[in-house]
Amino acid sequence: MAYHEFDLLIAGAGPAGCTLALNLAEKGLHIAIIEKDFFPRNKICGDALSGKVLSVMKRLPGSIYDDFLKGVDKIPSWGIRFTAPNLHSIDIPFLTDRTEGMQAPGYVCRRYDFDNFLFGKLKEYPNIQIFQGERVAGLSVTPDYIQVKTGNHEFRGQVIAGADGVHSIVRKFFDPKPIEKKHFCIGIRAYFENVSGIHAENFIELIFLKELLPGYFWIFPSTQGKVNAGFGMLQSQVVKRKENLVHIFNELITNHPLLAPRFKNATCVSKAEAHSLPLGTRHLNRSGNRYILLGDAAFLVDPFSGEGIGNAMASGEIAAAILEDPFRKNDFSANALGAYDARIHRRFSQEFKTTSIMQRLAGSAWLFNMVVDKARKNKELSDLLTAMFTNEDIMKKLTRPGFYAGLLFK
Ligand SMILES: Cc1cc2nc3c(=O)[nH]c(=O)nc-3n(C[C@H](O)[C@H](O)[C@H](O)COP(=O)(O)OP(=O)(O)OC[C@H]3O[C@@H](n4cnc5c(N)ncnc54)[C@H](O)[C@@H]3O)c2cc1C
Repeated sequence: MAYHEFDLLIAGAGPAGCTLALNLAEKGLHIAIIEKDFFPRNKICGDALSGKVLSVMKRLPGSIYDDFLKGVDKIPSWGIRFTAPNLHSIDIPFLTDRTEGMQAPGYVCRRYDFDNFLFGKLKEYPNIQIFQGERVAGLSVTPDYIQVKTGNHEFRGQVIAGADGVHSIVRKFFDPKPIEKKHFCIGIRAYFENVSGIHAENFIELIFLKELLPGYFWIFPSTQGKVNAGFGMLQSQVVKRKENLVHIFNELITNHPLLAPRFKNATCVSKAEAHSLPLGTRHLNRSGNRYILLGDAAFLVDPFSGEGIGNAMASGEIAAAILEDPFRKNDFSANALGAYDARIHRRFSQEFKTTSIMQRLAGSAWLFNMVVDKARKNKELSDLLTAMFTNEDIMKKLTRPGFYAGLLFK
């Protein structure tokens, strides 16, 4: 067994782990990034990259953002098509005014490509050492360091960042309490060719079918003329239905009155694969003595939209900023690292409160139907829905019962 010493150990090279490492790349730290898979690797996802992802990427060192715009296979997306349970749809652009040549507010990019792009950037920094095909299997904490064991290596570091996804071994080591099912959603996705009815400007589609509420079916136009399609449901509902997700998926695309015609000539070009999403409704300690948790390991997925990449990257950015001080003072106590928890709380708690309410409201089919029907006829309301993507106050407004009561009379 090979033995290594580092300043910082990062478990997991997804968007959270890579963002942390890249933000610290020029700070003189000796960093190990320990990843169980070999890149490029498959990641089950809808592949939608929101404005949050782009804004974190813009602040990464070097030319990462420009390289992403120039070099990565992706398609731009300019808005969302919402379909209500009554199957009426509305197109909501991400922007109310657009100028020639501006960058798209969002993209769809296969995680196989996106994650591999970020991962590839790590290799530009000699102080970041990458260990692929090494699963973090055991941890122990001493007064002076944290120790990690994988199949072939033993690592010592001052602190560990658990960026190892929803089933994080780092989180389970420090906080082994079981987590209630209501804090998870399960998503299943597959890639298709020849799905009809795709929006001319690649609007991503969220289709709120009554059988999935508050979850939804998505159709995201992807690269090479393919489509990433799938659906997410609360885990508690999946358990209640006692039905296989692949079976539900096939049933929907074969028999549902809205989906069946669109998938009639489609070919499925991948396996349908499912994975869990850890929702931001779960409160937990995201730091403690010699550890911090990022991204999915820290339950940072938006409870309404299921978006997690941007939040994972934002947590990596926050962690990088916070860790500078403990390294300067050589203090990795729970107290010192508590600053990370406090910053994560400040950054996400209000947003998650709002999106949790939206998740609950989305469970109500009639409310959804009413909002979409009113917005189809009322430009002021549809502009308000557009503004919700960039303005948290407007999102909050959408969680107030008075807002919906007012709509009844519009
Ligand atoms: C079906 C589905 C659809 C989704 N769609 C979207 C979407 O369209 N847009 C969006 O923004 N979000 C979406 N999400 C959420 C998004 O995928 C996650 O929030 C995001 O990947 C979190 O990034 P992360 O870096 O925290 O974790 P991950 O991306 O999961 O990366 C964790 C890494 O840790 C590695 N790892 C795990 N265990 C160990 C171990 N013991 N030792 C070493 N390495 C380990 C893994 O191999 C992996 O590379 C979706 C999720 C699902 C399941």
